[in-house]
Amino acid sequence: MTATINLENHPCFNVKVKGQFGRVHLPVAPKCNIQCNYCNRKYDCVNESRPGVTSTILSPAQAAVYMEKVLEKEPRISVAGIAGPGDPFANPEETLGTMRLLREKFPDLILCLATNGLNLKPEYIDEIAEIGVSHVTVTINAIDPEITRKVYRWVRHEKSVYQGLKGAKLLLERQLEAVKGLKAAGITVKINCIVMPGINDHHVVEVAKAMAELGADLFNAMAMYPTAETPFEGLTEPDAIMMAKIRKECEEYLPQMRHCTRCRADAVGLLGADQSEEFHGCLIACSK
Ligand code: SF4
Ligand code: SF4
Repeated sequence: MTATINLENHPCFNVKVKGQFGRVHLPVAPKCNIQCNYCNRKYDCVNESRPGVTSTILSPAQAAVYMEKVLEKEPRISVAGIAGPGDPFANPEETLGTMRLLREKFPDLILCLATNGLNLKPEYIDEIAEIGVSHVTVTINAIDPEITRKVYRWVRHEKSVYQGLKGAKLLLERQLEAVKGLKAAGITVKINCIVMPGINDHHVVEVAKAMAELGADLFNAMAMYPTAETPFEGLTEPDAIMMAKIRKECEEYLPQMRHCTRCRADAVGLLGADQSEEFHGCLIACSK
């Protein structure tokens, strides 16, 4: 990693700089290896703002060209991340290829990944550490497989598909290994935990406690966004009171991120002042 990168300038990990620096999500990872009961990646609308949504998919080379154009127009972008629309490590060639290209061309950029952790195996951790990916987010919604199993329809690992408790145990085991491996590699780790009323709201604090024990750096309890045509579309979105209570409890164990804006997989700009619409034409042009 070059000495010019200022790791403090990541607006998600450091609330103090959220008005000064922005991020871009490069949508290079279309496939996913699990199915969360709250996720629907079918919609593809520039007006819809939530994780899993993107207007197009880029190849690693296209992502590097797009990055160049984004930085020309918006030099406050300090972070390039991959957050879907599927999972970065269900698309390891595209993810690692993009990260390598970006590191070569933009030595000052902070590189960031957000994953469910299932396929973040030790060799990929070594590789991202070598490239200089400094920040990784792992979404862990429960640490009790009996709760985990309620959140996922299936988990696909090495060409086999697992459901129920078997899938939940496998996912959880791999997620815990991923967090340990990332910390051993010196990478800053944020845990996202999606709060689903009636499913895991009573358990989020246990997740925070376990993640603190593994050395995670930051905890982001995120309110589930009930999405149409998913098994959880009928759940109520957690309200501000529930979220404040959960975050306060979790804060006993880990610092809390309270400024997450639940971004699209092709989000760009400062948090809370998203420029995805402005860059939409540029993104589409780069994908052709
Ligand atoms: Fe959707 Fe992400 Fe879950 Fe995959 S891991 S199903 S992309 S929310
Ligand atoms: Fe940052 Fe949250 Fe947006 Fe991810 S979803 S880029 S953590 S604000």
